[in-house]
Order: sequence, then C-alpha cells, then structure tokens
Amino acid sequence: MTLSRRQFLGATATAAGAVALSSLRSESAEAIADANPFDRAMRWGQLAFVENDPGRYDPQFWLDYFARTHCDAVTLSAGGVVAFYPTRVPFHRRSAWMKEGMDPFGELASACRQRGLVVLARVDPHAVYDDARAAHPEWIAFDDKGQPRRHWANPEMWVTCGLGPRNFEHMTEVVREIAGRYDVQGIFANRWAGSGPCYCETCRRNFKAAAGKDLPGPSLDDPARRDYILWRRQRLRELWDVWDAAIRDVRPGARFIPNGPPGLDSAARADFLAVDHQARRGLTPPWDFGRSAKQYRAVMGTKPLAGLFSVGVEEPYRWKDSVQAGPEIRLWALDGIANGFRPWFAKFSGVLYDRRWLATVEDLYAWHYRNERYLRNEAPLARVALVYSEQTRDFYGKDAAESRVDDHLKGLYHALVEARVPFEMVNDLLLDAAHVDGFKLLVLPNVAALSEAQCAALGQYVDRGGSLVATFETSLYDEAGVPRKEFGLRDVLGVSFDGQVDRRMQNSYLALDAEARRTHPLLAGLEDAPRIINSVQRVRVRPRGEFPSPITLVPSYPDLPMEHVFPRVEATDERQVYLREKGRSRIVYFPGDLDRTFWEVMSPDHGRLLANAVRWAAGEEPPVTVAGPGLLDVTVWRQKDSLTVHLVNLTNAMAMKGPVREFVPVGPMTVRLRLPAGARARRVQLLAAGTTPKVEESDGAVTVVIPSVRDHEVVAVDL
Ligand SMILES: [Zn+2]
Repeated sequence: MTLSRRQFLGATATAAGAVALSSLRSESAEAIADANPFDRAMRWGQLAFVENDPGRYDPQFWLDYFARTHCDAVTLSAGGVVAFYPTRVPFHRRSAWMKEGMDPFGELASACRQRGLVVLARVDPHAVYDDARAAHPEWIAFDDKGQPRRHWANPEMWVTCGLGPRNFEHMTEVVREIAGRYDVQGIFANRWAGSGPCYCETCRRNFKAAAGKDLPGPSLDDPARRDYILWRRQRLRELWDVWDAAIRDVRPGARFIPNGPPGLDSAARADFLAVDHQARRGLTPPWDFGRSAKQYRAVMGTKPLAGLFSVGVEEPYRWKDSVQAGPEIRLWALDGIANGFRPWFAKFSGVLYDRRWLATVEDLYAWHYRNERYLRNEAPLARVALVYSEQTRDFYGKDAAESRVDDHLKGLYHALVEARVPFEMVNDLLLDAAHVDGFKLLVLPNVAALSEAQCAALGQYVDRGGSLVATFETSLYDEAGVPRKEFGLRDVLGVSFDGQVDRRMQNSYLALDAEARRTHPLLAGLEDAPRIINSVQRVRVRPRGEFPSPITLVPSYPDLPMEHVFPRVEATDERQVYLREKGRSRIVYFPGDLDRTFWEVMSPDHGRLLANAVRWAAGEEPPVTVAGPGLLDVTVWRQKDSLTVHLVNLTNAMAMKGPVREFVPVGPMTVRLRLPAGARARRVQLLAAGTTPKVEESDGAVTVVIPSVRDHEVVAVDL
C-alpha cells in the first residue's frame, strides 16, 4: 500500500509503473475481500438490548430501519451480563422478561441473516449477580485493599476480573454456545478487558509467575507498573486467542472482535475492528473521531475499520436513553467517514424514548449507500504523518498523559487541520520502511519515550530522504520512560541536551529575525511580527553544528508591577528552532512545547509557525490544496478507479465545544488536486451537492470551485 502510494504520487513514477502497481494492489484487495467476511460491510448498526426489551420492543421496526439505512451488518446483544437467548450455561442469567419459548437474540439475528446482513453477537462479561459470586468467588475483581468490588453503578452486581476464570473459562463457554447455535459471523465483546487493575488471587498469582513481582500498588512510580501494563496486555491477547479459537471451532470463518484491542499495536491482529468513540463531550475537538480513525488505520492499514458512534449523549451523568442534536451526530460521523471509518451507529434499548435521531442517521446512511464506490478507499494520499506513541503516554505521561502527551498531539493536529494539510498518523512501534516511506514527513509531537531501535529507524528514514519535525522532549526518554542524558535523536536533530528543562516560562517571547521574515518560508505570514509570544516550557539545548537563527529567545522578565514590565535583555542568540537540511531531508526541531502551548492558548502565530514548519520540511507540493474561508478537515484518498477529496466543514460557533446546533455553510472553496502521473480526469462530481462542477485541468492537477459547503463535500474524480 505504501509503496503504491509513493509510486502513485512520486515525481519519478511513470504511467506504466503506476498501472502495474495498481493492478497488483487490486488483486491483493480482492484476496483480502475473499478472506475477510467483514470487508463487504460498509454500513453498520448496533442494537444493544436492555433487559426488559424482550416482548416489549418491536423487532419489525428495527428490521425496517436496518433496511432503510442500507445496513450491511448489525451487532445485536446476545449475552454476558444478561442472556437474550435460552442459554444453558450456568450463571448466565436469562433476561427476566424472556418468557418460556422466547429467543429475542436468535429471532432478530436469524431475520437479519435472511436479509443478507452480517451479524455480530454482542456480549459483555464485566458484571455478575450474587449467585455467581457465591458459587465462583474467583470470578470477582478485587480492589487494592483486598475487597471484592461491587459494581460502581449497580449495587446488585459485582465487577468481574477480566484476566481470570470468569473470562477464560465461563465466557469461553458462553461464546462457544452462541457461535455454535447461531449463524453469526463473529462475537463482539464490550468491556471485555476488566474494569481497571484487579488484585484478585488469580491476578496476584499469575503476575508473580510471569514477572516475579507483586502487583504494583497505586503509585505511578512503582517499579512493577510497566511490567504489569505489558503483562495485562499479553494476558488479554491470550484471552482473544482463546475466544477466537472457541468461536472458530464451532463456526469456522467467524471471529472474535474485541471492543478495544489490548495495546493499539495489537489492532494488527484483527481482520476487522470497530473503534468505540461514541460522541464528544466537554472540550473534545470536533475532529477527534477522525483522529481515532487515523490512529487505528496506522496499525490496520487497509483492513476494514468501523467507527462506532452513539446517537446518545456521552456525559458522565450517562443519560443513555436520550439523544444528541442531529447536526452534532452528523458532523461527528462525517469526520469519521472522511478519515476512513465505515459508519457504525449504536443505540441502546430497543424501545425508543426519543426518535429524533432516526432521520439523521437514515439520511447520512442513504447518502453513504448512494456513493459507496467513492467511499471504498484503497489508500490515503497524504504525504505527512503524525507519530503517535502509546508507550510515551503510558511510561512518560503516566497520570499527566493528557497535558504531557495528548495536548502536544492535539496542538499539532489542530494546526494541520487549520492549515488544511492532509495528513495521516503513524504508530511508533511501526517505523519500518513499509509503514513510513510513503510519507515525505514525519511529525513527532513530543514523542518523548523512544527506544534506541526506534531512534535508529527514524535516523534511517531520514537517510532515505524522509523529513522530520520534532518538538520539546522528543527522544529524551527511553522506551520505559527513563530519562536519557542525551537525545536519542541527537545526530538527526543536530543538538545536545544541556541538562535542563524549564517547566514554566512566564512572559517570555520569540524574536523573529528581520531578514528571515522577508525570506524564509518558516516565517511566512509573520512578516510584520518582530516578536511573538513564546511557548511555556523549553528544553535547553546546545547546537552540534551550524544553524540559521530565524527565531531566538527573549527571556522571561517581570510581568508586574506594570512599571517593571520591560525586557531586561532585548535579544539573545539562543535559537528556539533548529533547521537542518541533510541530503533530500529537512529537519525542524522546536525545543519549546510550541504544540502544547498552541493547544492551550490557541495563538494564531503558533499555529502558523507549526504549519509553516510542516510545509517547509515537506518541501513539495501537497496532494491537495484548498482555498477559501473556514475551518475544514481535509482528507484525500484513492479508490479503485477514482480519487476523492473530503472537506468536512467544522466552521461553527460550537466547533471547539459541542454540541453543534446548526451548520454554518462556507464558500466558495477552490480545491486543487494533483493527479497521478499521466492520468486524466474523466469525470468530476461533488457528491454532497450532487452536482458536476466546472473543472480546470492543467499541470497535472484539476481545480474545481465549490460554491458552498454546508456540512461536508466530497470532490470525486474518476480516472
Ligand atoms: Zn483478577
């Protein structure tokens, strides 16, 4: 996939070369489709039963709705906490509303199969009742004080251990029974991985045997903490294998589908996953569903991936029976689709208390169905990728992962969205040539914890002509989160660690060099700004060679009393950006936490600087450029015989704190899309407007003007 994309867009690719590679890739895509029962399913629906649904809800309504939304696949509740079929497994409690002879799961599943839908059976093993606890105390999770855990939301129930016999034995019987008795293509387990750390006897014994240590206490500095995190993931991968084998044993071809893989990198084991990111709340940015699509695709490549969104409210007070405003649901789902998710709506309760969501999802899905051939993406065409590091989050970020890790990523992510630079994500455990060489530029937003091998892989990427943008403490810690004396990437960045990190710089500024403001692309748009605000933190470094000095430090000075607010030092020669050119590579290192400060303060100067750094380091014409007003998430894709550009219009008074109440149309937007070498555009359509725009074709690119974008638009170019 990466090779073909590179060949596809690469300046040296010949038309013949591109054709040969494209036919190769089609063959492999067909092979995947044959082997993968989930590949054909483009639209998903989920009905999660509540215990009193049997006999009260209307199955025909749901069958009609699945048809009206053109769902290819559905997920239906079968068992776990409550069984919705006549189970024979002990302590698998049947719904109290299920009368003798009823089989609500089986009847709905069978009707869906008759209509040709893929069916996943949903189970949820995370809680049991008193009778199960009395007979099997070893199924229950224990807290760090050695007490069995009552369910936090339901005092009738007990929380179960995810890593012991409840899951490995009892639930294995349950999934085997479901897969053996019903024509399902897989079993989807919700809350399957336990509910936080468990201190039961099984966990104590197994961890001791595996790691030679006691379970870690609540301290984040407990030396056993990292061992525990890694062991727990390993145990869950074993559980995945046990359930998958039990399912395939009785129904070959069916799969276990976990809700949430143990460690993002283990998503690579799945033929299909659904990413559960139901809705936003609080200050979740409007592009965050798309972000999770990028993050999972970085591991799963072109395998089918669904984005599970809820029509409900996603707040700590739950309100599971209510629904979101239509525009909010729609915009959230659209951003996921634009970033490569297949939509999967989730509704709890077969009896509806608020029906307003129905038309929203039906309308979106009908559009998706009509335009399916342009949504079956084969490869993203972005040339820039943000590196995501789960180990940096776990072992460097710890309990402050949000501010120390996520906020850096969010700052860079938002800067790229604002700048309309199409980009992908790369997982830091997958830095081999096959995963990174399709990109001209990797961006490392404070990817602090990197092993020697990971640093070496990044160095080799640069040696092969790749470019890097890195910020703050990138590579200053090893993979376990232990501080280094020197940057792991010292040779690539060209700087040495000076031994100090300033954690709060009050009232500090960046001086922008007058000559560089006139000439250097890094400072484009800042021509009139001799001084802008600095970031809040900085790593002190020493250059290991010659560097230009477009940006230098104005050190902190008093900010009160007002009479004292004047710089004690007007200028220094301490650089706050390090720019290098090395062969075909360009490297930018910001010693400050510019990305995190951008996310906190949202200074447009910082956003511009980050975007300029990315454009300069990429050093090539981007695959697509979009001109016009507004905040838009721009993605660019190739399908079998076409290219698409998605524009998701995030311009909204409620963009940065939802829910969105209405759409705010923007336009006109001018979109210029580079075509593959030698290709011509046979036809260009706007898939949301349903119109054919006027097209200009020149210099191997098509340019179209979109008069107005309401919530989204897709420019589809048939090749
Ligand atoms: Zn346990």
